Amino acid sequence: MKLLVNISRLLCALTFIVSGFVKAVDPIGTQYKLHEYAVALGVPVADWLLLAAAVVAAAVEFTLGMLLLFAIHRRAVTRLILAVMVVMTGITVWLVIAHPIADCGCFGEAVTLTNAQSLAKNICLLTMAVVMVRRPLHMPRLVGPSNQWIVKNYTALFILAASLWSLYDLPLLDFRPYRTGTDLRQAMSDNSQTMFDEFIIDSFDGTEMTDSIIGSHGYTLLLITSHIETADDVNFGDINRLYNYAAEHGHAFMAVTASGREQTERWQDMTGAEYDFVQADETLLRTIIRSNPGLLLIHDGTIIGKWSHNRLPSDERMDAIRAGAEETASNITRTTHIMLWFVVPLLLLVIADRLWSWSRWLRRRNKILRERSLRHTQRIISSTFKTNKTMRKKIVAGNWKMNLTLQEGIALATELNDTLAAAKPNCDVIICTPFIHLASVAAAVDATVLGVGAENCADKAKGAYTGEVSAEMVKSTGAGYVILGHSERRTYYGETPEILKEKVLLALANGLKVIFCIGESLDEREAGKQNEVVSAELEGSLFNLSAEEFGNIIIAYEPIWAIGTGKTATSDQAEEIHAYIRSIIAEKYGQTVADNTSILYGGSCKASNAPELFAKPDIDGGLIGGASLKAADFKGIIDAWN
Ligand code: PEP
Repeated sequence: MKLLVNISRLLCALTFIVSGFVKAVDPIGTQYKLHEYAVALGVPVADWLLLAAAVVAAAVEFTLGMLLLFAIHRRAVTRLILAVMVVMTGITVWLVIAHPIADCGCFGEAVTLTNAQSLAKNICLLTMAVVMVRRPLHMPRLVGPSNQWIVKNYTALFILAASLWSLYDLPLLDFRPYRTGTDLRQAMSDNSQTMFDEFIIDSFDGTEMTDSIIGSHGYTLLLITSHIETADDVNFGDINRLYNYAAEHGHAFMAVTASGREQTERWQDMTGAEYDFVQADETLLRTIIRSNPGLLLIHDGTIIGKWSHNRLPSDERMDAIRAGAEETASNITRTTHIMLWFVVPLLLLVIADRLWSWSRWLRRRNKILRERSLRHTQRIISSTFKTNKTMRKKIVAGNWKMNLTLQEGIALATELNDTLAAAKPNCDVIICTPFIHLASVAAAVDATVLGVGAENCADKAKGAYTGEVSAEMVKSTGAGYVILGHSERRTYYGETPEILKEKVLLALANGLKVIFCIGESLDEREAGKQNEVVSAELEGSLFNLSAEEFGNIIIAYEPIWAIGTGKTATSDQAEEIHAYIRSIIAEKYGQTVADNTSILYGGSCKASNAPELFAKPDIDGGLIGGASLKAADFKGIIDAWN
């Protein structure tokens, strides 16, 4: 499954990146395609809105692909990709059935797919999106959470800059038929290249000009302007300069437009243009160059230069081109440059991030090894001198949660009591039950065999708090313990560190021992924040206690992602964080208090995994949920101490 998820991730990510990129570097082409959709749907949309939508849609597609590749926000991104694919598949079904547009435009001008091919591609991507949505966390991250912001911002900035630059200048990559290097004579005589059949230019009096333009020797400059009345006139001075340059050097210069005589005359009056105008089809002109106006340089029938009106060549540059000293960059050269600018910094980031996290892992591992060997030495010293100061208890505690009727509860407690009385367990055993069971269960068991505790108590001492049960009431049933801070109560009943602090104080004041639960969520674990979380939980509710009061606290480390899920932390994972918890208790209260504090593990603990967990030096037993509801299962865990 993991392999399948990651193959889907790679294919989907690359598809989104490529299709987002080719659209982003030709925003005007994408705008034309959106215009076709708007016409097919009969919805009139302003051109500027279509252009903005083209830029945003391409940026979103590219960014989603990058986030997927880097496994950033895995759940949200896979869901979004699924939503996008559901919509896109719906659209291609419509295209296949109604055929309003010949090519859906999913890869811009780079690859043209038939509608049926697009549908097949989208069904594959949709299937992969479903696979990823089911197991998003199977995708390993390429950079740690703390560096992901760099990838997100760099990606968004890069793709928006690429779009804006392509709008200002010309598409960064040119996938259209009339790209630089095209030999028009050869293309037009090649019957397989039908798109060049449209290359027809006529003078205003109807004389056919195509052959004279592409058939002439030497240089021809064509000012391409699909509509002269909407052409940008800010650079007319440069255009006139190039016209003079062409005249001086004996090169042909003409403007090609789909506009009528009246509009061309207005342009000539306004800009002082002396060049002639000839006519061609609007679509042809918009295909040739994504700039209005734009300049085309033809040499012996081959397109050797293309410029937006914003970046027209200087006379020196024209000299250099004519002298053959300058070659226009091909798509491959440009792609290589773009890759260097975009991919290389990201690659360096990935390498630095991985090296950093590896060195952090090494440092942490060395620290644990050092601490382990220190503890081992301490144990040897204390057993040699028979001064074992470590008094902490091994404990197995059950948490029945909201299960079992009163009668079932009494039956289970009695059965356990009898079994343990006969078996003499090697640890303390406690059962924590719903309030209504407490008095009866406490009366039914032998307190020297089985401790009894509540699963909660109020944060108020007494008074008008309908439905609440105070620590004093719990104590009065004969119970000796109370669980506080369980993640289910934090999550479902909004128990904050402050509320828990009050509860702990009241429980201790009434002579109850507190089993205090701490632990991180899955997201926090994946972000590597587990130590931060547990230390904040201790700080927030317990570290106000005196060392003496802290002696009545049992810690239960329960990773939330392991509670009732069947997933257990590995014994090494659990040991690592138990040792960390002990170390921060030591920092606060000193090593003796830390050594005397029992730290239990909780989260899908069973008879099968308890022995391995309990064998770890800092794991002093378990807090057991589901497996405490059957005497035999619970006893299996208790026996792990034998
Ligand atoms: C618990 O809720 O304390 C617990 C550890 O539950 P389970 O053993 O069922 O995961």
